[in-house]
Amino acid sequence: MGLLTGKRVLLTGVLTDDSLAFGVARLAQQEGAEVALTGFGRGLSLTQRTARKLPSPPDVLELDVTDEEQVRAVADQLSRSWGTLDGILHAIGFAPAACLGNGVLEAGWEDVAVALQVSAYSLKALAGAMLPLLQAAGGGSVVGLDFDASVAWPAYDWMGVSKAALESLSRYLARDLGPSRVRVNLVAAGPVKTVAARSIPGFEHFERVWAERAPLGWDVRDPEAVARACVCLLSDWFPLTTGEIIHVDGGFHAVGA
Ligand code: NAP
Repeated sequence: MGLLTGKRVLLTGVLTDDSLAFGVARLAQQEGAEVALTGFGRGLSLTQRTARKLPSPPDVLELDVTDEEQVRAVADQLSRSWGTLDGILHAIGFAPAACLGNGVLEAGWEDVAVALQVSAYSLKALAGAMLPLLQAAGGGSVVGLDFDASVAWPAYDWMGVSKAALESLSRYLARDLGPSRVRVNLVAAGPVKTVAARSIPGFEHFERVWAERAPLGWDVRDPEAVARACVCLLSDWFPLTTGEIIHVDGGFHAVGA
């Protein structure tokens, strides 16, 4: 029996097989989960192609997380096909170019608002819309992907502020969804080479300092440790853990210079 046998999980953020969510999808299936993916806009067909590389190609539902109708439509589709839902992976992040690599003074509110909505508010949009399905399962697990927002990083700028909002929101959601037996946790991952990571100016800098400082070492091409943590949090093995941020970063966050 696998860690996720009998569980139905909705996984966002699978774009290519480099996506952190792809590693989660593959491992979740290996551990017995029934999986549905979401794809966004022009990336939808790429997600559909990537889905075919999974051990058991899952359904791909269209989802722009900023579009309330699409969020509702995903909930309706899952309600018809599954009736209940045990877990959600939020692996969605985006900031317009003006929000990255220019310092925080340059970007205007219109761009910042997009970064905050797509990267932080969307956790509430998704968890809120799926809540009746999670409740119908007797509770469940919401897992989000984070980049440690307790410090200011080079170039990460408004994406860093969006991650700080995501971290805070995960705690408030943990408070509000706890009575429904729904846990809300984040995995703060070290840098991994994905499409989103490539859009961060100076990503190589992160690569270099992580290799130098992480006590356990770090490989920007290996998403397996992140996938394992997400699958554990989606399973029944963290039954009383919520509002938590688990660092999967080779221990980088724990050491100074
Ligand atoms: P990725 O493969 O590019 O995944 C990001 C996903 O977010 C893409 O599938 C993207 O779709 C989707 N997305 C963007 N806007 C959306 C919207 N409005 N509605 C629905 N989906 C939308 O990159 P990733 O690195 O795996 O990122 C997944 C998560 O991990 C993000 O939250 C990211 O911040 C976080 N994270 C990444 C790292 C890292 O180093 N890679 C480290 C820590 C945390 P499109 O590409 O089609 O727009």
